[in-house]
Amino acid sequence: MTKYKLEYIWLDGYTPVPNLRGKTQIKEFDAFPTLEQLPLWGFDGSSTMQAEGGSSDCVLKPVSVYLDAARKDGVIVLCEVMMPDGVTPHASNKRATILDDEGTWFGFEQEYFFYKDGRPLGFPESGYPAPQGPYYTGVGYSKVGPVARQIVEEHLELCLAAGINHEGINAEVAKGQWEFQIFGKGSKKAADEMWVARYLLERLTEKYGIDIEYHCKPLGDTDWNGSGMHANFSTAFMRETGGKEYFEKLMAAFADARADHIAVYGPDNHMRLTGKHETASIHTFSYGVADRGASIRIPHSFVNNGYRGYLEDRRPNSQGDPYQIASQILKTISSVSAEGSVSAAA
Ligand code: ADP
Ligand code: MN
Ligand code: MN
Ligand code: MN
Repeated sequence: MTKYKLEYIWLDGYTPVPNLRGKTQIKEFDAFPTLEQLPLWGFDGSSTMQAEGGSSDCVLKPVSVYLDAARKDGVIVLCEVMMPDGVTPHASNKRATILDDEGTWFGFEQEYFFYKDGRPLGFPESGYPAPQGPYYTGVGYSKVGPVARQIVEEHLELCLAAGINHEGINAEVAKGQWEFQIFGKGSKKAADEMWVARYLLERLTEKYGIDIEYHCKPLGDTDWNGSGMHANFSTAFMRETGGKEYFEKLMAAFADARADHIAVYGPDNHMRLTGKHETASIHTFSYGVADRGASIRIPHSFVNNGYRGYLEDRRPNSQGDPYQIASQILKTISSVSAEGSVSAAA
């Protein structure tokens, strides 16, 4: 028997976006535990905006399990928050609102800033570093500084060890800004892995005295880029059947649901979706082939393939909750037509 350190992690009840929470319990197993072997657990919801003090118990229901390479015999147990009955999803549990569909694939591109002493890593105490230009995909001390890449590499190793389908990294346009991508097949997979990857990143940078700044426009109305979390998506129907007519109906549905999408695409997005810095205005919906200034970018491959494949919604921001983003995208797709609906496509 081995004593495993089980880190149960979940999302709290803060709005507009939740925070990650986690606590450890030690349990003995013969081998690395499977999901079925992991018990429900509980926590004090009155400390996380999930319950009143008088009746404070919330239930943690494990939904997936990952190796935690930062700890000897470590396990990360991603959980949904349930009501005390253990079966009713808590109001803060947005994962439970995602339509289950194996044929849906998501790819999220998470941008973020490293922050130290209240400013982006590498920024001088006052004023600004040299303007944007050399930092995107840059190499060398003057571009990325002495520690950022070390953290990024350590994070990549932790994600790969955990079994997360991490797809890549790059230094971004602003100094101190980076990106990683996660892709998953199944409507909840990439969103689950994004939350675990965020957890690993935030925990990793504790020892460096560095925070992760997920705000979409931490430097405000300046010439410094904001951060997004582009959501690339496809259903089996989009990949296998698609067609121009379906595509146009889908885009009309996205136009109609513009406000519902913006509502869950992350706070303060009006600061980022200005029409500048490769963004579209928050007030309009647009799409275009290879257009990085549109709300939705259509990859060349999509058109060349007879309007089949995936689309990139460029509006979700870095602070957005991938569960709420995935949930809304699937809701809009499902509204389109019976033959193109998600369940028909599964
Ligand atoms: P860019 O920065 O040019 O937008 P990235 O390579 O950073 O491109 O991100 C593209 C994303 O699209 C990746 O996360 C990838 O996994 C995702 N993707 C590729 N094919 C599909 C697909 N069929 N369905 C959903 N997402 C996809
Ligand atoms: Mn990218
Ligand atoms: Mn990017
Ligand atoms: Mn992108």
